Amino acid sequence: MLIDDLRAIQETEGYLPREKLEQYSRETSTPLYRLHEVATFYPWFRTEPPAETEILVCTDLSCHLSGAPQVLSALAAEAESSEGQVAVHACSCLGRCESGPAVTINDRPVTAPAEGATVAHLVAAPSLASGHGRLEIDPYDGGSDYAILGRLQNGALSADEVVAALKESGLRGMGGAGFPAGVKWDLVRKEAATPKYVICNADESEPGTFKDRDILARAPHLVWEGMLIAASIVGASEAIVYIRHEYQDGKKALEDELRRATAAGRLPTGPSAPTLRIFESPGGYICGEETALLEALEDKRAEPRNKPPFPGTFGLHGMPTLINNVETFALATAILSRGVDWYQSIGENGGVGPKYLALSGDVHRPGVYSVPLGITIRQFLDEYGGGTTRPLKAIAPGGASSGFLPASLVDTPLEFGALQQVGSMLGSGAVVAIGEGRCMLDLALNVCGFFKNESCGKCVPCRVGSEKLVYLLEGWRRGAGRRKDLPLIEELAAGMADASICGLGQVAPAPFVSALKHFEEEILAHADGRCPEGVCPMAT
Ligand code: SF4
Repeated sequence: MLIDDLRAIQETEGYLPREKLEQYSRETSTPLYRLHEVATFYPWFRTEPPAETEILVCTDLSCHLSGAPQVLSALAAEAESSEGQVAVHACSCLGRCESGPAVTINDRPVTAPAEGATVAHLVAAPSLASGHGRLEIDPYDGGSDYAILGRLQNGALSADEVVAALKESGLRGMGGAGFPAGVKWDLVRKEAATPKYVICNADESEPGTFKDRDILARAPHLVWEGMLIAASIVGASEAIVYIRHEYQDGKKALEDELRRATAAGRLPTGPSAPTLRIFESPGGYICGEETALLEALEDKRAEPRNKPPFPGTFGLHGMPTLINNVETFALATAILSRGVDWYQSIGENGGVGPKYLALSGDVHRPGVYSVPLGITIRQFLDEYGGGTTRPLKAIAPGGASSGFLPASLVDTPLEFGALQQVGSMLGSGAVVAIGEGRCMLDLALNVCGFFKNESCGKCVPCRVGSEKLVYLLEGWRRGAGRRKDLPLIEELAAGMADASICGLGQVAPAPFVSALKHFEEEILAHADGRCPEGVCPMAT
C-alpha cells in the first residue's frame, strides 16, 4: 500500500526526505518516479521539511465571508518576521465552515479571530470538535444496534426485501448526484464478477460542506451497519471508508465504534464476513469524485476516469464496486429499521425524507441541521439558522458547484427538482447565505479559484480553462477588465462544461455564470472599472 507507506514515512520524518524515498524504492522495487508521481499529487504529502509551526488558512467561500483574507495577511506578516519558524499557507476548504475563519496549526483545527489574528491566538485556541449527541434519524436508543444486519444474517430479512424497501423509499444518493440508492445497490448485486467492494465516500471537501463530519461523529454505527448491509446484499468481500485526513475526529469515532461493536459481538465473523478498513485520504477535493477516489485507493494519482464504465461494473481494481456517501449509508440503516412509511412521512413541497444540511455564511447559527427535504431556503435560514446577519443578497444552495441564486428566490424549496428548475442543485447539502454588501464578482472569483486550485490537470478544458477563467476574472476584479472579455468568458465556460472529463471542470464556471445571470449589472460594472459594493481593490 504505497500511499499508506508514504504516510508512515511522513509521520516519522515530518516530510518525505529524498533518501527515505530512495531507500523505499530499493527495498520494495518500486520505481522512484512512482513515488514522486504520488507524493507530488496529494497536498498532505510534503517533500520539503516543515517549519516548526505550520499554519493553513482556509480561504474558500464560507471562510472568505468570515474574514479569511484578513487572517491570512495578518499571519503571513507575522510569519515573515519569524525567521522561518512559522510558515503560513492558504489552503482549500478544511470542512470547518461553521467555525470560520478556519485554520489548522500543526494539523490542529481552530478558529482564528477575524481581526488581529496572531500565532499566539491560534496556539491558545481550543481545538474544534464535531457535533455530539444522538443523531435525529438514529433508530437505536442503545443496546439493539446492528439489528437489521442481524435480521439479514439470520434470514428474517431477505436481500430482495432490502432492495425493494430502498427502491420504494425513494432514497437517493446524498453525495451530490442524487442517483437512486436502491437501484445502485441492485445493479452491483446483479454483477457476476467477484470480488466486489463497498466504499463509503467520507471525503466531502466542497466549500460549505461539513454535514458528513457531524454524522460520522454522532452515529458511526449507522454508517458501519449501512455498509455491512450493503456488503451482504451485493456480496462484497471488503468494505472501505474513504475519509478525508482533516476528519480525524470522524476517523476516531469510526475506529472506536468498530472496537465497541466487535467486543459486543455485533459484527459478522467467519470466512464470508467482509474485511472492514478505513483509508485516510492524503488530500485533494478531487478525491471525492468517485473514480478519482478509486484511483487513490489503487495507489495512483487521483485523476478521474472516463465514464462509462461506471464503478458499479468497473470499480476498484476493475471489479464491481458500490459507492455511497456517509449520509446515504446512515439513512439506509434508518429506513430499513424505521420503515419506508417513516421516511416518506417526512418532507415538504414534494421533498421526501429527512436531509442533513450544512449551513454557513452570513447567518446567526451556522451548523448541521436535519430538515424535512423540501423546506424552503427562507425557512431553513430563519428557523434553523436564526436568520441572516445582514439582509439577504444571495444563496449558494448546494455547495460551491450549485452556483448562486438571488434573494428573490428564497422561497425555493431545498429539494432536487425545485432547485433544478431554478438552474441550481441540492448538490453536497451545503447552504451558504450571502448578505448585502458582499460583491458577487469577488465571491464568484473565489469559488472559480477553488476549482482552479483543485483541478487535477488531467484534461485540457479544465486545466487550462480554469486558469484562463480566473485570470480574466482577476482582471475584472482589479479594474483591468473589458466588456469585450465577456463573449470569451462565455465561450470558455461552455467549452469547459462540454468537454471536461469530470464534474469539477463541468461546474467550474457555474459560480461566474450564475452570478452574471442574476447580478448582471453588478458584475458588468467591474468591466467598466467599478465595484458597486466597494469590495474589489479598484473601488475607491
Ligand atoms: Fe481533472 Fe478537471 Fe479534467 Fe476533472 S475536469 S479530470 S478535475 S482536469
